[in-house]
Amino acid sequence: MNNDQYLIGLDVGGTKISAILVDETLSIISELRKQTLLISGRAIVDEAKELIAELLSGNDLDIVDIVAIGIGVAGMINFKEGEVVFSPNLPLKNVAFKKLMEDHFGVPVFLDNDANVAAFGEKYLGSGRGVSNFICVTIGTGIGGGIFINDKIYRGVSGSSAEVGHMVIDINGPKCGCGNYGCFETLASGQAIVRMAKEAIAGGKKTLILDFAKGNIENVNGEVVSRAASDNDQIACDILDKIGRFIGIGLTNIVNIFNPEKITLTGGVSQSGSLILNPAKEVVSQVALVPNSLDVKIELAELGNRAGVLGAAALALRELSS
Ligand SMILES: [Zn+2]
Repeated sequence: MNNDQYLIGLDVGGTKISAILVDETLSIISELRKQTLLISGRAIVDEAKELIAELLSGNDLDIVDIVAIGIGVAGMINFKEGEVVFSPNLPLKNVAFKKLMEDHFGVPVFLDNDANVAAFGEKYLGSGRGVSNFICVTIGTGIGGGIFINDKIYRGVSGSSAEVGHMVIDINGPKCGCGNYGCFETLASGQAIVRMAKEAIAGGKKTLILDFAKGNIENVNGEVVSRAASDNDQIACDILDKIGRFIGIGLTNIVNIFNPEKITLTGGVSQSGSLILNPAKEVVSQVALVPNSLDVKIELAELGNRAGVLGAAALALRELSS
């Protein structure tokens, strides 16, 4: 790669689509963000193309200056085929995203799921730097993961690895979007926070959560609960503590199986910080096997909401050079 060549990272989420222009050291040159057009798969692909064109023209660059494009999409991805198989929050089903973008731009395009690209971001630019056996767990509305073993991402046989959100924690637990019961993400994600908060309010518990939600139970989300907890609301604190403990159970399984050096937590729920991190760490230290529990460091992510776009660019750089 020459000094005057660049990479583009794209993060396609259920609400926002973000693009970032970086140089060969993955330093940020410029970035753009828009609301995702949820009309159709075609509209999303067109919007991605337009966002990249805008990023190029805004920086007086042409597509010949770009060596590769990395894309992260929230959903099930077939990495080898470059296809979005299915997405729970986007109208993308069996969309050949990689081919459509490569045909349009004429440069290599690499497509992966949002949790894997976030893991790439943290591995190369965030808290996973220099850590060979590294796992990044994204805890937002759902839960996803990215696993690095000896510095290589582990994708599994069909490229759908690290769906840690669907390990079953409680067979009698709530029904999951995947059809099973008691998956990790039904107990420890943003949707679990909302469910617990609504149950507390419906049960007549006195809590600031409803005040922060402007008196409307439908406005209750993870951020509202986190704000109430920061104001020392006992119900909100109890919910986040419970969520943190469930996160600890999920992490214990991961720690016992993979014996990683570090696990980083990213995603919206992780922004509650020590309110969820401390109970999660406590559970791992009490329940996970020794020496695995002693070896692992569990930390919060460093890149915040840029992990996806930066990770998409890092994915493109790694795939290009591998
Ligand atoms: Zn599930």
